Amino acid sequence: MIKFLDLEKINNRFRKEIDEKIAEVLDKGWYILGNQNEKFTADFADFCGTKHCIGVANGLDALNIIIKAYGFSQGDEIIVPANTYIASILAITQNGCTPVLVEPDIKTYNINPDLIEEKITSKTKAIMVVHLYGQAVPMEKIWELAKKYNLKIIEDSAQAHGAIYQGKRCGNLGDASGFSFYPGKNLGCLGDGGCITTNDDELAAKIKAIRNYGSDYKYHNIYKGVNSRLDEIQAAVLDIKLKYLDKDNSHRRQIAKYYRENIKNPAVILPETYDENAHVWHIFAIRTKERDRLQEYLKENGIETLIHYPIPPHKQDCYKEWNNLSFPLTEEIHNTILSLPISPVMTDEEVEKIIKIINTKME
Ligand SMILES: *Cc1c(COP(=O)(O)O)cnc(C)c1O
Repeated sequence: MIKFLDLEKINNRFRKEIDEKIAEVLDKGWYILGNQNEKFTADFADFCGTKHCIGVANGLDALNIIIKAYGFSQGDEIIVPANTYIASILAITQNGCTPVLVEPDIKTYNINPDLIEEKITSKTKAIMVVHLYGQAVPMEKIWELAKKYNLKIIEDSAQAHGAIYQGKRCGNLGDASGFSFYPGKNLGCLGDGGCITTNDDELAAKIKAIRNYGSDYKYHNIYKGVNSRLDEIQAAVLDIKLKYLDKDNSHRRQIAKYYRENIKNPAVILPETYDENAHVWHIFAIRTKERDRLQEYLKENGIETLIHYPIPPHKQDCYKEWNNLSFPLTEEIHNTILSLPISPVMTDEEVEKIIKIINTKME
């Protein structure tokens, strides 16, 4: 069986280093907001090229806290892709703001920058871009719009650790960015984790307080904050894995290139990228009208695949108020998309087997 993602194999590569670091944290007896957190967030800020990185408990909290720190609330609109994982949208509605959904470019699956301006109103406060499946959103037009209409750019970089657009990493392409370190992400820890990157000193200080009960120093609370911190063990593990992230991402790129050059099945549409460095291939998503049949056929042949995602946010039960809205491209993507295995520990033989099966006619 070729697993969709073999997390045990991924993390076992660093087993010795991880064991030692966890022992170090245990021996120190300091588990939250200590020097592991300081070290990792400084290293991740360096990696992204940003002035600040603040550790939080998960990716959803990261986005949520950014919006809270800007003070956006009831009546404020935030532009966001219709084709995204639901967390992007939840962060907006949890703050009482209104998400304004925009259709994707069907070739890259990312937000179509040409469809944003018509959605801007006097209530628009921010554009949230989502670097979906690991591909940086082309930002040029979005930077122009943000400047023209005085909007903040919030990045959802939860799938794009290390992706580069015009020489800058995701996390450094807007005003503030949320990352997730959920185990399956390109940089994943051994539980939940996340962070926020920004170059804004004032915003960083506010976020640092908000994620820790709104406290600027102990037992002194200046905001109605939350409890959302990256713990020491997760920070220690992430700091180890960060050293290998670029190498892991190159391995993913090689697999993606191999898939794109060798999958030759007329029923399958391959994902496109506009620049090799822009994509870290968190997910390799193909499209086909025969999606369910192809998934079953791959399963019968020992290949595990997943669907990212089967139901778009506006069709979810929790957003009943939007169920009648129509986003044809987003819906088309959700109905036809299928994610093939891709990871830093996949072997050439596994990749070749998958290509061979896909290229063989289904019976
Ligand atoms: C994973 C993910 C999140 C949320 O991250 P968690 O750590 O699971 O809260 C947000 N946005 C996108 C696009 C994601 O893929």
